[in-house]
Amino acid sequence: MRRRLNQTILLYVGGLIVFTSLIILVNVWISTTEHARNQLRNDLSVGQAITQRILQNREQQLATSAQVLTDDWGFKQAVVQALRDKQTMRSVLLNFGRRINVDMMAVIDVNGTMVFDRDNIPATFSQQAASMAQQALFGGTQTQILHSDGKIYQVFLLPVKAPNPIAVAMLGFEIGLPLLRELSTISQLDVSITLTHNQLTQRLLSTLPADNHVAQHEPDQLNWINIALFNQQVFAAQSALLSQHDQQRIELQLSENVQQLFAGFSRLQLQISIIALLCVLLAVLITAIIARRVTRPIRNLVNQSSHIAHGNYRHLSETDGSLEVNELTHAFNTMQDNIQNREAQIRFQAEHDLLTGLNNRNALSAHITGMFDQQQAFQAIGIKVRGFRNINDVFGHQNADLCLTILAQRLAQQTAYCARTAGGEFALISPRGCSDEQLGALLRDLQAPVLLGNVEYRPAIALGYLDCPQQADSTEQVLRRLHIVLDDPRQKDLPWVKFDVQLEQDYLRRLTIISELKLALETSPNQFAVHYQPKINTQTGQCHGAEALVRWTSPTLGFVAPDVFIGLAEQAGIIHQLTFRVLQQVIEDSHNLERAGYAICIAINLSAQDILKSTIVDQLISQVKHANLSGKHISFELTESDLVSDATTAITQLQRLRDAGFQLAIDDFGTGYSSLAYLRSMPVNTLKVDKSFVLKLDENAADRQIVQTIIQLAHSFHLDVVAEGVESWNSWELLKSWRCESLQGFYIAKPLTFRDFTHWLEQQEQP
Ligand code: C2E
Ligand code: CA
Ligand code: CA
Repeated sequence: MRRRLNQTILLYVGGLIVFTSLIILVNVWISTTEHARNQLRNDLSVGQAITQRILQNREQQLATSAQVLTDDWGFKQAVVQALRDKQTMRSVLLNFGRRINVDMMAVIDVNGTMVFDRDNIPATFSQQAASMAQQALFGGTQTQILHSDGKIYQVFLLPVKAPNPIAVAMLGFEIGLPLLRELSTISQLDVSITLTHNQLTQRLLSTLPADNHVAQHEPDQLNWINIALFNQQVFAAQSALLSQHDQQRIELQLSENVQQLFAGFSRLQLQISIIALLCVLLAVLITAIIARRVTRPIRNLVNQSSHIAHGNYRHLSETDGSLEVNELTHAFNTMQDNIQNREAQIRFQAEHDLLTGLNNRNALSAHITGMFDQQQAFQAIGIKVRGFRNINDVFGHQNADLCLTILAQRLAQQTAYCARTAGGEFALISPRGCSDEQLGALLRDLQAPVLLGNVEYRPAIALGYLDCPQQADSTEQVLRRLHIVLDDPRQKDLPWVKFDVQLEQDYLRRLTIISELKLALETSPNQFAVHYQPKINTQTGQCHGAEALVRWTSPTLGFVAPDVFIGLAEQAGIIHQLTFRVLQQVIEDSHNLERAGYAICIAINLSAQDILKSTIVDQLISQVKHANLSGKHISFELTESDLVSDATTAITQLQRLRDAGFQLAIDDFGTGYSSLAYLRSMPVNTLKVDKSFVLKLDENAADRQIVQTIIQLAHSFHLDVVAEGVESWNSWELLKSWRCESLQGFYIAKPLTFRDFTHWLEQQEQP
């Protein structure tokens, strides 16, 4: 079991103090007890010496008196008379006895017969006396302590000499209670006389209280337990033998009341015990206080640690405890500061975009979730830099980052919540929503030129928005639909796109098309066919070229128009695979045409991504060369808008194609708002007027004006002109009159399969 620190301190220090106190207490107890026992022993020995002395003195006095009596002539006479006539001398002997206060008096003749017995001495006693009388006759005065009938006597047997011993006088002095009291007074001890007969001891006389519950102990057997604990009088006793005869022992016993003796010591012991107890209590109290003082700062640290786990930081006082604890508290506070700073940093990084400092996608999600939780309506606006990947490729990462940072600064000016959600994508959350004017102002602000190195770059911004919660009611849905809105193809044509459900369906369809397209290009290239639309020379009416137009029939999606899947292939970054698929087919068909004797130049459409990558341009050139074909057989078309996005790179790559001998045409001219002057710098030799101007040429005067001007200007720059979308004889005639070099359109022929195209060519040759 784990104990608290203060409990441990209390246990050890308190335990030590209790232990020490107990040792002292026990020692005091033992030594006082020992001291008391010695005192007892001493008292008893001194008492014994005194009583013995007193008894001896008394014996001598009595012996002297007895001797004086027996030496008395009258007494001797009385004894002689008594030996003759027992009765007559009786009164005389009694008188003598009264003179010295004898308690027992008898005369025994030389035969051992009791001739005079004042006190009716019992037979046992007289037998004993008779044997002692014999010893007295020959050995002189005999003395003995004897017991008779419950009484104790100091008995003297003296020979009565006249002058020879004629009898023995027996004189007994009772040792009674008064004597014992006297002894007791002098020795300050209780005095008893005991008789032991046949192992049975009885107290004959005693100054002890007549209480049966008197425990007698040898001093050495005494211990503090039987002194302190038994509720009875305890005495220590010591005996001295007075006489022994025929298995009878008469002893003088001295006793001292142990409890009285111990009373003083017990008080001392009690006082010491109380002091020890108080010391223990005090020590425990002080230890508890110290332990608390020591552990409180530590406990505070422990408590604070659990607060830290819940993210609550609080400085603890550094003056509460000992030096070490204060140092620990200081270190702890510093640690808290560090953790807090690091946490703030981590939180900032977790919620912010490191490049722009704007909120990141996670923070945006949390913000949107918060808006939903508060049931607050808002407008979510998505912003995307179109062709951001190109900025990276063309201007380098540093400049691309710079561009994003500048855009972020512009966005940060907005009152709405703004975040960067992906590479070139941002989002604004506006609780009030933006009017069309505000959206327009935002767009203008974002599309303002950005200086990247020495180049002024105008970011192309796609903008879209949705109103929540009407158009999305969960965070995930908001983010997904913002992406859909920004991905919408109409972004090219509209200033911004507002979300509607159709967009999502279109988006899903686009996703399906992209995945099917990828699969088809990788696994079944024969899903793609190339059709050829002839171009004829206005002057000769002869077909001199054709445009290769790709057709895709998917087993799952059916026929998919190129306008749909070409854009998606560009978005998905797989357009070059399609280009090479077309090139491969064109090479094959070119060979066939050549073999059939036709001199036809086939134009292949390239996309911006094809032309901006030098490796693809390399491959195009080498594959054509490898097929033993040349610029006579194959040419390329590029849309005007593709060339504008990154003119510098485009020019370099176009120049390489020109150098390799290929004819290059600018496609869809008139839709890209670029000036012809600008196109002069392009290494191209043909210009294709966009079909939107040609289709209604015979009806629309403005179109006629435009097309005529374009043709004239193109000629002034030495460019050939191809008009596409020729659907009528009138258009043909007009274009011919304006000296347009080539014509292409349904009026001449629709895009044809290769078989149909060769048939068509055959028919053309027939007059
Ligand atoms: P585009 O390069 O402008 O191709 C000419 C488009 O005009 C073709 O549409 C053609 O069928 C259509 N057209 C030609 N004459 C007439 C006419 O008299 N009236 C009308 N209304 N339309 C006419 P298509 O084949 O649907 O191709 C659409 C676009 O797809 C092409 O426009 C081109 O940009 C792209 N495309 C087609 N094939 C390829 C390809 O292999 N590679 C690339 N990168 N783009 C391709
Ligand atoms: Ca074209
Ligand atoms: Ca075109």
